[in-house]
Amino acid sequence: MLTSTRFAGQRFAVLGLARSGLTSVASLVAGGAEVTAWDAREDARDKVADVATVADPLTIDLAGFAGVVVSPGVPLNRHPIAAHAAAFGVPVIGDIELLAQIRADLPPHRVVGITGTNGKSTTTALVHHLCRAAGLPVRMGGNIGLPVLGEDALPPGGVYVLELSSYQIDLTRSLACDIAVLINVSPDHLDRYDGFDAYAASKERLFTMQSAGQRAIFGQGDPVTRAIATRIAAQRAGEVTIAAPDALPGQADWPSLQGPHNLENAAIAVAVAQALGIDEDVWRPALASFVGLPHRMERVALADGVLFINDSKATNPASTAPALAAYPRVHWICGGLPKTDTLGECAPAFGHVVGAYVIGEAGPLFAELLGPYMPVVRSEMLCDAVRQAMIAAQPGDVVMLSPACASFDQFRDFEARGDAFRQIVTMLIADRDAACPPLPNSEGMT
Ligand code: ADP
Repeated sequence: MLTSTRFAGQRFAVLGLARSGLTSVASLVAGGAEVTAWDAREDARDKVADVATVADPLTIDLAGFAGVVVSPGVPLNRHPIAAHAAAFGVPVIGDIELLAQIRADLPPHRVVGITGTNGKSTTTALVHHLCRAAGLPVRMGGNIGLPVLGEDALPPGGVYVLELSSYQIDLTRSLACDIAVLINVSPDHLDRYDGFDAYAASKERLFTMQSAGQRAIFGQGDPVTRAIATRIAAQRAGEVTIAAPDALPGQADWPSLQGPHNLENAAIAVAVAQALGIDEDVWRPALASFVGLPHRMERVALADGVLFINDSKATNPASTAPALAAYPRVHWICGGLPKTDTLGECAPAFGHVVGAYVIGEAGPLFAELLGPYMPVVRSEMLCDAVRQAMIAAQPGDVVMLSPACASFDQFRDFEARGDAFRQIVTMLIADRDAACPPLPNSEGMT
């Protein structure tokens, strides 16, 4: 595990004992810190009872604490811990900040921090893959679901590739990434911010935390990202790279990196690889051998010439748009719990849609928005949508689940939704008349 004696004798509170919280407790305790830990769930509290004082940081005097470590799931704009910690002048931080504080004690290494509204996981996994191909010691961590403090330090020359959501950046004060990346910015998570500008400002902080000589890499696809790039370049000429997808030929050879968005992700990952000193004869074949992540334009099946694609991770219109653009004839299954009341960002790709099959709570709204542009079937349920799309599809067409919505109206999370799609496709390919499975038990939903 990553830890440091730098923590010795310091007092920390840890709020939220899921994976990253538990790892933070373990790392702090191993470094000699005194830890007070809390989770609303008793079974989670029991896991730390031997090593930490179990108490709710909201109810204790925080004077003298070095920090309150919270999970990125805690909404700082609404949760009372922010004001309570502020009253004692104690910083509210996350596990990434703990890493930042002990970097000087680790073997020499580099940190690549990757943020953006869409494409973070894909780009993070791709950078990791390119580093592996180059034989560098490398580890992924952060938002991708692997607590970064959880494993032993990398040997000298190691590269930590961190996927950072804006929440994780908000909980970080001193992470100077050797290479910081912003893929794109579009409206999302606005329930957690005071408007779009505040959300964008959160992403920009990844660059203002950097030191002189470190690299900043930007996508070029949207005006907010370009504006941030321009501001950073004005302060740090020579350290900024804009990754240009047009300048990267060969996409046809990379099966898991199809679509314009994945060309952007690839261009960014290549810019990172070059900044790390990886040569083209290493990164180019590695783009071809990259295997994508599940639920991101995942090829599920090919039956009777129809390709089935699971893009369940596309939970907002900006992430669905490039998926539609990637294929010429798409039967588009969309809907769920809507995050916005428009699908404007998808409009440039409407010409690629042969028919839309709307499901979930967004069904009526999406039917109204899409009706003027394409045939719409009000399927309501995922299984009906797949069946109807399958009947309509001709050889060469694509049936794609790319919901442009959150999943919580009908599924536990985007993974459960994508798994259901995969299962339904397999079942209906075997027997078109098979009965649909019942809806997942709503008790399992969050
Ligand atoms: P994140 O981790 O930021 O949510 P993922 O790599 O998991 O991103 O991709 C989520 C979805 O966003 C994918 O299903 C894909 O449709 C879309 N996407 C991926 N890369 C991009 C990009 N560069 N621009 C826009 N959308 C993207």
